[in-house]
Amino acid sequence: MSELDSNLAKAGKYLQAFQEKTTGHFINGELVTPAGAETYTNTTPTDQSSLGEVVKGTETDVNRACEAAESAFADWRDMSGTDRKKLLHHFADKIVDRAEEIAIVESMDCGQPIRFMKQAAVRGAANFRYFADKAPEAQNGLALHQDEHTNYTMRTPIGPVGIITPWNTPFMLSTWKIAPALASGCTIVHKPAELTPLSAMLLAEIASDAGLPDGVWNTVNGFGEVAGKALTEHPAIKAVALVGETATGSHIMRQGADTLKRMHFELGGKNPVIVFDDADFDKALDAVVFMIYSLNGQRCTSSSRLLIQSGIKDKFIAALEQRVKNLRVGHPLDPSTEVGPLVHTGHFEKVMSYMDIAKQDGATTLVGGDRRSDLGAGNYLQPTLFTEANNQMRIAREEIFGPVLTAIEFDTEAEAVQMANDTEYGLSAYVWTENSGRTMRLARELETGMLWINSENNRNLPSPFGGIKMSGIGRDGGDYSFDFYMETKNVCVAHGTHNVPVLGR
Ligand code: NAD
Repeated sequence: MSELDSNLAKAGKYLQAFQEKTTGHFINGELVTPAGAETYTNTTPTDQSSLGEVVKGTETDVNRACEAAESAFADWRDMSGTDRKKLLHHFADKIVDRAEEIAIVESMDCGQPIRFMKQAAVRGAANFRYFADKAPEAQNGLALHQDEHTNYTMRTPIGPVGIITPWNTPFMLSTWKIAPALASGCTIVHKPAELTPLSAMLLAEIASDAGLPDGVWNTVNGFGEVAGKALTEHPAIKAVALVGETATGSHIMRQGADTLKRMHFELGGKNPVIVFDDADFDKALDAVVFMIYSLNGQRCTSSSRLLIQSGIKDKFIAALEQRVKNLRVGHPLDPSTEVGPLVHTGHFEKVMSYMDIAKQDGATTLVGGDRRSDLGAGNYLQPTLFTEANNQMRIAREEIFGPVLTAIEFDTEAEAVQMANDTEYGLSAYVWTENSGRTMRLARELETGMLWINSENNRNLPSPFGGIKMSGIGRDGGDYSFDFYMETKNVCVAHGTHNVPVLGR
């Protein structure tokens, strides 16, 4: 039996429960499907077949989940950090126990190749372990001394929070947002993306198995405009962490205004990778290919704009052309697959629309540009490389969110910086050069939340993760996550030596 066949057999087993009964919500420690609930069909991008029915969450469902999170908050907040640490490590153990199932279900639901999803399950557990270890110190603050007073600060969890996640790497991103919220003592209501609800339900089951108290973790399925909106408007919810599109961030900011919610947004990007003539050619080539064609190009930090210096342009583009042609497109459960099907037909069509836009704007489609119809009814696309583009074209300005790279030539460092910054986004950037002085200049000049120099997207959990401009507000990672999920309280203690101002004596 091939590895693909063996994975398909496992998928059949793991997906059976979702196909046999409607996927509902997880509220106050129970899996619930409200009587008479409206549902929608969740399909797999591999061939558009059904993975089962999912409930369309209503405002009433969201209200119940928010009330559960509110009721559970005080006890969870008051649990010692050490006990929370133990529970969250236990949670991570349970993720590891189900890592294969998570990876396979996720691949079938969102189309991401199994080679990457295996890692995503492991990274999800690592997210929980990292923040579990930090739970006992989350409340720590500063001591600030004055002559006659000492101030000290402490952090307290902000309250129940709403976590709204997208479909591109749903499992990993959910754990990345939820682990620090729980470690800091917040309770959560999670609204996963409607296109990929399955791994969120596995997480909810794990929450129950791991023994999280009822109401600490709640999951409501459904659409953004209804369930997501109700969550962002609910008065019990004190903060909303969104990973999604820039336009969604604007909606949520408006929706949360009346209840003055704290917001954390991780949004879209059009990230440049700048390759200079003096770059390590082979490594830069590997990184350029990896950072747009891995994860189906459905990755917020993908480097979707290649800025290539004129001295090496022809040689680099020729090598790139060969590599893009070689990419193995196929079923996401085939371990040899490098690019899988795009998440949904609607998204597939959006990505396909850029093939015509590129032509109209005068770019060259050097590789790809079409559907892989030989692979059946799934959302399979030829990995695509546009060349002879300029930074004003729509393919250089808009987030395509697929395995599609736009290459643009530049001459000077100043020109590269100008083009890199000439975008509404500012999530990440990548620079390849052997000139150390240049790396220092670019680190200062590039308008981006994150910059990788001579590297692809290396991950470090304590480092701040997030964007500037239209790419987001706020940072995740390490203590930055706690700053979002917690309030800082200042306590000022007099030493007993000062005089209080006297009135009316
Ligand atoms: P999306 O914005 O369409 O949806 C994200 C989530 O928001 C979903 O759960 C959706 O139901 C919900 N939502 C939509 N409208 C809402 C509303 N009015 N109120 C409340 N919730 C609402 O995003 P997507 O298409 O699922 O994901 C792709 C996007 O996510 C891309 O733009 C990508 O760049 C971005 N992303 C960013 C990062 C980052 O770290 N910056 C990471 C991953 C993905």
